[in-house]
Amino acid sequence: TPRVFSGIQPSGGLTLGNYLGAMKRFVDMQEAGTHETVYCMVDLHAITVWQDPEKLRRATRELCAGFIAAGIDPKKSILFNQSAAPEHAQLGWIFNCVARMGWMQRMTQWKDKAGKNQQNASLGLFAYPALMAADILAYHATHVPVGEDQKQHLELTRDVAIKFNHDYGVDFFPVTEPVIEGAATRVMSLRDGSKKMSKSDPSDASRINMTDDADTIAKKIRKAKTDPEGLPSEAKGLEDRPEARNLVNIYAGLSGQTVDQVLAEVGGKQFSEFKPLLSDLAVDKLAPISTEMARLMEDQSEIDRILAHGAGQAREIAAPILKKTYEIVGMVGA
Ligand code: ATP
Ligand code: MG
Repeated sequence: TPRVFSGIQPSGGLTLGNYLGAMKRFVDMQEAGTHETVYCMVDLHAITVWQDPEKLRRATRELCAGFIAAGIDPKKSILFNQSAAPEHAQLGWIFNCVARMGWMQRMTQWKDKAGKNQQNASLGLFAYPALMAADILAYHATHVPVGEDQKQHLELTRDVAIKFNHDYGVDFFPVTEPVIEGAATRVMSLRDGSKKMSKSDPSDASRINMTDDADTIAKKIRKAKTDPEGLPSEAKGLEDRPEARNLVNIYAGLSGQTVDQVLAEVGGKQFSEFKPLLSDLAVDKLAPISTEMARLMEDQSEIDRILAHGAGQAREIAAPILKKTYEIVGMVGA
């Protein structure tokens, strides 16, 4: 069976963007049953920017609880943390030697996260996409569900696979397809319609966290930036209105409707009427997940057991692929 791989960084708490752009799609692919599904808490990626060790450990376990609460079943999907399968870092090194500096320099995530002072960013942040290619290709995964922001990194993953195959004259790594689908593939900040919602954004008001309570969600949506006009009756009317479009996309993502279906219902309303509908819907969908997350977090040894089991399953797939890669490259003793 073809294989799906995707990951989320324990670089903070899960956001609504992660849920709609990634996790909800992970559950869909698990339930479709057409692919073997492998999902990872990418802790090695998280430390490309400073993480407090105790917070990182907690965020990793909470992320695992989030996966399960959102519907990932450790009996149906492989669920583990990246550092527990050393093949990721090992293959990542090989890919550091395949990928080119120029490829990395063009990455918008690198430019955004490094900011003006690139000289002071970690080498790991620069090489991030090569490790991401390793995450995926260590499983020969063919499909990768992600949000829109990861599209460029997935193109780089394809380039790594193609260059490796070409340089060594083999047909070993598959050329991976991104799966970027749904109404909310790019959820924007609630404070700035030109910026992606991110768990690492310093402003908590910019995002809805999966663990926010009903009052906090309502308050953040009430304060979300909008424009003075009402809602249009067709998607076309949302062009050049990024904040308005974002709230409608979120509604569509949460309700499982298309944007046009949403606008057929709410077109003509003012934001003062629409925002409470959106908060109610968000609370409705998120509260059961955050309640379940909190319940799961009460038994951390159970979470650790699930992660250890998943890492064992992951390594069974990744170890032979790494071994074969070492052989191809010319390592003695592989
Ligand atoms: P960080 O700010 O630390 O990069 P993040 O919120 O961007 O955190 P990641 O762990 O980098 O989250 O990404 C996990 C998955 O969530 C990826 O598939 C990514 O494309 C998706 N994702 C992240 N933010 C959004 C968003 N705003 N809308 C849709 N999908 C998103
Ligand atoms: Mg990110």
